[in-house]
Amino acid sequence: MQSISNVILDYKGFPLCEVKMGFWPEGFRSCFFLSFDYDASSAEMWKAPLDVVAQSKGRYAPKVAIPRIHDMLDRIGVKSTFFVPGWTADNHRESVELLVSRGHEVAAHGYSHERMTEISWELRKLFLIVVSRL
Ligand SMILES: [Zn+2]
Repeated sequence: MQSISNVILDYKGFPLCEVKMGFWPEGFRSCFFLSFDYDASSAEMWKAPLDVVAQSKGRYAPKVAIPRIHDMLDRIGVKSTFFVPGWTADNHRESVELLVSRGHEVAAHGYSHERMTEISWELRKLFLIVVSRL
């Protein structure tokens, strides 16, 4: 993506949007949003609750990836948002509490990484109530 004056263009040079000049504080011209999808095994629990092999894929995150990400973010002095399913918070509470204790934001990501379009409104509401209490 390239920029000419205050119009943001796509890679072919077509205008995507116009940026209000003076929007960013202190002379900054852009920003970025860094977030992480901390699922652990929640998606596998939803799709294949009895498949032990599939569930083993999500074990890397709480044991290795999340501590490494913590260290990296601390080193560069950046706070981030982690989208965490309720199942992950229930089963890897220490690592989620570590996220919060270091000032990161933890955002709702369903309970079992379910697809919202595949469940009823009543179940969506129930999941939101459950995850808001974690
Ligand atoms: Zn996810």
